[in-house]
Amino acid sequence: MKLLVTGGAGFIGSAVIRHIINNTSDEVVNLDKLTYAGNLESLAEVSDSPRYNFEQVDICNRAEVDRVLAQHQPDAIMHLAAESHVDRSIDGPAEFIETNIVGTYTLLEATRQYWQSLEETKKANFRFHHISTDEVYGDLTHPNELPSPLVGEGLGERGSLPLFTEQTPYTPSSPYSASKASSDHLVRAWHRTYGLPVLVTNCSNNYGPYHFPEKLIPLMILNALEGKPLPVYGKGDQIRDWLYVEDHARALYKVVTEGSPGETYNIGGHNEKQNIEVVHTICDILQQLRPQERSYRDQITNVKDRPGHDMRYAIDASKIQNELDWVPEETFETGIRKTVQWYLDNLDWCQRVQDGSYQRERLGAGE
Ligand code: NAD
Repeated sequence: MKLLVTGGAGFIGSAVIRHIINNTSDEVVNLDKLTYAGNLESLAEVSDSPRYNFEQVDICNRAEVDRVLAQHQPDAIMHLAAESHVDRSIDGPAEFIETNIVGTYTLLEATRQYWQSLEETKKANFRFHHISTDEVYGDLTHPNELPSPLVGEGLGERGSLPLFTEQTPYTPSSPYSASKASSDHLVRAWHRTYGLPVLVTNCSNNYGPYHFPEKLIPLMILNALEGKPLPVYGKGDQIRDWLYVEDHARALYKVVTEGSPGETYNIGGHNEKQNIEVVHTICDILQQLRPQERSYRDQITNVKDRPGHDMRYAIDASKIQNELDWVPEETFETGIRKTVQWYLDNLDWCQRVQDGSYQRERLGAGE
């Protein structure tokens, strides 16, 4: 197979490409604009492979997307290119509308034209896989409905709380999640109206190596090591379901190769944690790996909450488990330890990707 991966220089896209090159005999074309979030260094271990190609292209540029499709003749497209940070979408929604909505529309139209030109067998086997987020479903649980106190309690205590299924209605809260929801609707409409063989996946929060340091986990690790405050939004009681990025990459490959066209699959890690629990865990692992006199937990500082911040997301991943036999391999405890160790071993990567334009300042405070 030849797979075109959009956004392959980003956090999840690069994990997908490393997974495909290292574990299959497939070819990959990475189509990426290389925004601040895209980094070819994340692909260093596979970029010498004769099965890897790179095209620096904006998905909003129809002529260039047409050229790439005609030139490389992919068997499937995995669409990950997006603006992905909620806080940035609060400060500047325009780029989210442009890339996530207009860009997905442009890619869909270019793909439809390409797909219609294919010979019968290649056309029948072609897939357009759209990678989306659980944030499109919106806030799952009102704070008043949460058992209290939650800190330190396991999933068992929350077992009776609802989960997102593939049937959960969309109620996105942020410009980011609203733009992703719009793109999901476009993809499904291109299936229903034009018959394009699409697959949609909605995944929970990812973490792991090569995550840009604006996101919670790398931000906390790097600030902790530099003795800086660890900014926790509000009380830090928001709950997210965490999935190790390499588990997500395996799931995505399963879906694009074995999923049924027109279907949606929720992907999650069965790892619900409050943000404050995540930060405590990072502090405690750092204390073991890089001991310091003062507890890293002392650096935690509560800051103004994110406007419109959703309280809880949690995924019911039983469909992908039952139909495609996928389950995560990492627990949060094993995955977070690997992640902290990776950041300790790759501080130079973190330094280079921040490249002077981002100093881990507060984004999206809504002021
Ligand atoms: P990321 O921000 O790390 O990477 C996005 C990549 O897309 C970058 O390489 C960037 O250069 C590229 N890109 C941005 N605009 C582009 C454009 N106009 N044309 C071409 N390339 C462009 O994002 P990520 O965390 O790897 O997320 C990838 C996808 O997965 C996104 O669609 C996101 O919505 C979705 N997702 C992310 C998470 C998560 O926890 N990170 C969870 C579920 C779903």
